[in-house]
Amino acid sequence: MLFKHSFFYRYVAPYTGPLLFNVLLRVLSALFTLVLTIAIAPLLALLFDTGQAESAITGGGLAQSGLELLENWVQLSVAANGKYETLFYVVLALILAYFLKNFCAYMGLYLFIPIRNKMVAKLRSDMFHKFMILPLSFYANQQKGDLISRISNNTQDVDTQMLNQIQQVMVDVVTFIFLIAALFFISTPLTICVLILLPLIGILTSFISRTLKRKSKKLQDTIGRISSQVTESLEGIKTLRSYNTTAYALRKFDAENASFFKLNTRVLRRVYSSHPLNEVLGTTAVAIILVIGGHFIISEQSLRPEAFITYLVTMIQMLPTSKNIITAYFTYQSGKGSWMRIKEVLKADEVILEKKDAEEIHSISRGITFKDVCFTYGKKPTLKNINIEFPKGKFIALVGPSGGGKSTIINLIPRFFDPVSGQVLFDGKNIADCRIDNIRALSSLVSQDTILFNDSIYNNILLGNPQASREEVIQAAKMADAHEFILATPNGYDTLIGDSGTKLSGGQRQRLSIARALVKKAPVLLFDEATSALDTEAESRIMQAVQQAGKKNGQTIVSVAHRLSSIRHADEIIVIEEGEIVGRGTHEELYDNNNLYRKLCQMQNLDNRPATPNNHLQNATR
Ligand code: ADP
Repeated sequence: MLFKHSFFYRYVAPYTGPLLFNVLLRVLSALFTLVLTIAIAPLLALLFDTGQAESAITGGGLAQSGLELLENWVQLSVAANGKYETLFYVVLALILAYFLKNFCAYMGLYLFIPIRNKMVAKLRSDMFHKFMILPLSFYANQQKGDLISRISNNTQDVDTQMLNQIQQVMVDVVTFIFLIAALFFISTPLTICVLILLPLIGILTSFISRTLKRKSKKLQDTIGRISSQVTESLEGIKTLRSYNTTAYALRKFDAENASFFKLNTRVLRRVYSSHPLNEVLGTTAVAIILVIGGHFIISEQSLRPEAFITYLVTMIQMLPTSKNIITAYFTYQSGKGSWMRIKEVLKADEVILEKKDAEEIHSISRGITFKDVCFTYGKKPTLKNINIEFPKGKFIALVGPSGGGKSTIINLIPRFFDPVSGQVLFDGKNIADCRIDNIRALSSLVSQDTILFNDSIYNNILLGNPQASREEVIQAAKMADAHEFILATPNGYDTLIGDSGTKLSGGQRQRLSIARALVKKAPVLLFDEATSALDTEAESRIMQAVQQAGKKNGQTIVSVAHRLSSIRHADEIIVIEEGEIVGRGTHEELYDNNNLYRKLCQMQNLDNRPATPNNHLQNATR
């Protein structure tokens, strides 16, 4: 739908009912304002001027008869109770009217607050949901801090600069309409003059707002970059300190901060220019009306002085409301810059799409097949016609020089990316035709960067399979060689590991990631340099345990390893170089027949003896 991504369609329209009720309350409040504005002068005049003053309203209809009713009541009361008592009643009525005016206005606000907060919560939630489903390729081109800024600062801006303004404008528009109606009642010719002047003011001020939206978007982009830089610098604080390069970070930060300063100064100057501009234009308008009104009173005698005073009071009341409407428009425009940044996320291509009639798949009985798979991240092909079988229960290793495309192959299995051509098949079914959550449930990935959350060790492992029992968690930890170090921590499995697991060593973090993958008991285990931070002995122990468990449970293991000792006893080793398969076979076969593989082994002092658990360990501990 054309308006699907419009702010009003998505976030305001669903609340039309409550908003209309809100408008009703505003109407009531505006009505009381109106009564107070046009009734005070004639009533007091009546009270003090021995009842000779006439109605300021020269028009007809409801307003006049309403006012006449009030005047009659004052006259009757003066006759019956005397002036003092009547004054007392008038003042009481005034207080009551003010109370009702403000009560209605507050009730409007009171009811609008939850609506407004719901809108913002929905906005934030939509963004976070989108973050969770956007493909990894989206994140490759985005800065983390900038995305954080979009979901925190920009949603806040939408709240204060757009939703708040909508609420404000509702009040002002209603009041404005009532006051204009009152002006018509008092004097139609004068009001026509006012109506000619007002659009002129509007045209003069609107040109300011034209560039505001664009500038505000730029401003928000700068805030996003600042936020990214702060995140990046804080995450890399150790590296920055160790290389004595904090000056570099400071320079980059200062440059962005200075550009923010310049831009924000320009934007705010423009925003605030609307106030004095309006004031000057407003005063000019009043002056012009004074001259015209004076002419009606003096030359034409078509307007009484009291009516003109009431007219001016009403018009002066109306000017701030028109000013507010214009200011709200300005602020709304600058809020739109933030909305545009949010929209960029909400509209971002999901790329990895699930078919409408996607098939269910809950197990793998034969294995995974890569059939003529080609892939590219940009222009240069990353994978060229890859054909691989990963049979159920087998351990397949991918080796080769870095940048060859091994991780890319791993990432295609949980469908983080789609091949440009060719297919990835689970038991002969193209995974592009299956449900994405089913496909992801079938594998567990441990990558080089260990991602842990600020929670207990236990919960971090449990994340792999929230249904797992405590025994299963401990068993997975044992298999990942983590049990002992976990017991040595202050609270064992309940120890909190700090932000991103900063309280743990690199090797410990990796062990926990492996335990998390193991507890999932997925049919496919994907290890992408998963043991790189471990010493060779621990690596061998873990890989052996994983392989044994895999054989027993019929799990397929795909491992990318730089250290060949950990994969030498794989069922099949596939050598990848520059996106192509340049060799495949067992360790011994490749050692004898594949130059690249032999060279890699020799660089790591690995010989071609058949892989047995014993010599595997011996090699590993060399
Ligand atoms: P390996 O795991 O063998 O080291 P990768 O699969 O990580 O190789 O990378 C293969 C090629 O793809 C490399 O040239 C790398 O620069 C490029 N590459 C990897 N990830 C991305 C990405 N997200 N965006 C663009 N290019 C990428």
